[in-house]
Amino acid sequence: MKIAFVTAEITPFAKVGGLADVSAALPAELHRRGHEVRVFAPLYRRARTPDRVFTPVDDLDRVEIKVGPHTLIFGVKTATLPKSSLVVHFIDCPGLYDRDGVYTEDPDEHFRYVALCYAALSACQHLGFSPDIVHANDWQTALLPLILKARLSWDKNRFPNTRSVLTIHNLAHQGVFGAETLADTGLQDSAHLFHQDQLNAGVINYMLTGIMYATAVTTVSPTYAREIQTDLGGGMLAPFLRARRSTVVGILNGISADEWNPETDGDIKKQYSAASLEGKEANKRDLLTQMGLPYSADVPVAGIVSRLTWQKGLELVPGALMPFLAAGRLQLVVLGSGADLYEGQFMELQRRFPKQVSFYRGFSNKLAHMIEAGADLFLMPSRFEPCGLNQMYSLRYGTVPIVRKTGGLADTVQPFNSVTGAGTGFVFDLLSESSLAAAVNRALQVWPHRTAWRRLQLNGMAQDYTWARQVSVYEELYRRALTL
Ligand code: ADP
Repeated sequence: MKIAFVTAEITPFAKVGGLADVSAALPAELHRRGHEVRVFAPLYRRARTPDRVFTPVDDLDRVEIKVGPHTLIFGVKTATLPKSSLVVHFIDCPGLYDRDGVYTEDPDEHFRYVALCYAALSACQHLGFSPDIVHANDWQTALLPLILKARLSWDKNRFPNTRSVLTIHNLAHQGVFGAETLADTGLQDSAHLFHQDQLNAGVINYMLTGIMYATAVTTVSPTYAREIQTDLGGGMLAPFLRARRSTVVGILNGISADEWNPETDGDIKKQYSAASLEGKEANKRDLLTQMGLPYSADVPVAGIVSRLTWQKGLELVPGALMPFLAAGRLQLVVLGSGADLYEGQFMELQRRFPKQVSFYRGFSNKLAHMIEAGADLFLMPSRFEPCGLNQMYSLRYGTVPIVRKTGGLADTVQPFNSVTGAGTGFVFDLLSESSLAAAVNRALQVWPHRTAWRRLQLNGMAQDYTWARQVSVYEELYRRALTL
């Protein structure tokens, strides 16, 4: 199949969260399986590091198109995805993308991504690429299905039977902008195709528009697909998702088998596998040294790697862990940045327990790998979690996840049963300090029993959540979309 995959983030060029990992790994796997895949992403300032070469595409160094009242001028440059032969097409438009950070709060934020949609489709036309599927991701590219329908259906040459897929990576971000920006979408003539009540109320919701017009809508885990169709989980978009329930599918994200593999991981002190799990201990020592904490073989280390936002439920952590920290039964290593509230709480926890808690405020891929390899436990008490990648990395690294039973966490971590020895982690339901504390306590009960603990680790390491497995589900979905 021919697939145009359009995304606001792609690892390692520009990553904010899980979307970036998926946008690299899924297309790479589709490409490996022989599909013709073109990935389109913005060429942000942060992607242009001195070690990277971006090659201009012949005849596409200066493309000019009209989008509403704007004349959009952009170039297309390519770079190869590391560890793959997949070529990524970057939209080079410095006026929009040469800024600090990936997302901004600038007044033209909506237009930065409208432009991405138009530029990607225009690049398909110039490249002579006729996609069977245009795959949009999250609100940033959710206008693609409507743009295809309203603006490009005349181009029977290039988009003869093109179908669209919208993947919702996180429904919390919907791209809601004032109706006065309608002209900027280049869809003013198609105002009647937007949700009329919303438009009359003065807003345009990009995600909603995508849900209305995509041939198929997917999200990133079966449980999240169910949750967002409830009023509690889906809010005002729930009725629209319910209305399309026959085409709303939850497909679990995969993890990159190359990037997250304890047997080959170049970021960790000592590589290891299920057959040589002792090697993990060297990584624990190394992690603690790096984080300035003393090492003890008997005390388990819990890790957190996360955006520090409301979604992640991290306000439960200090209260839940306090008794275990005070009793010297646990250490905690945290990597993340985000809201002051959470940064402050981890700084405070570190101040109170300097020998047991260490907080690194910032973003570090290497440290994320070191934590996955060196921690014994991994905490994800998320309020909601569309899929979550870290718990799957943890399973692969023999690091036992403690997760809240929500979204993809519920789909990927099975509660450990100490009688049967089945299960891969510890799961709690209620979003409360005491429920999290009870789950941590269950883990600490098993921890001293080395055989049981080893069994738990090996159960997790035996799971296969790599893209190699998940990609065939997307292939089926694309095939089905072509028949709709
Ligand atoms: P989300 O997309 O909500 O942020 P996911 O678990 O799906 O959550 O993906 C998060 C990704 O971002 C993981 O690959 C994780 O390792 C990475 N990550 C998050 N915060 C940091 C950080 N501070 N440093 C390094 N990697 C991070």
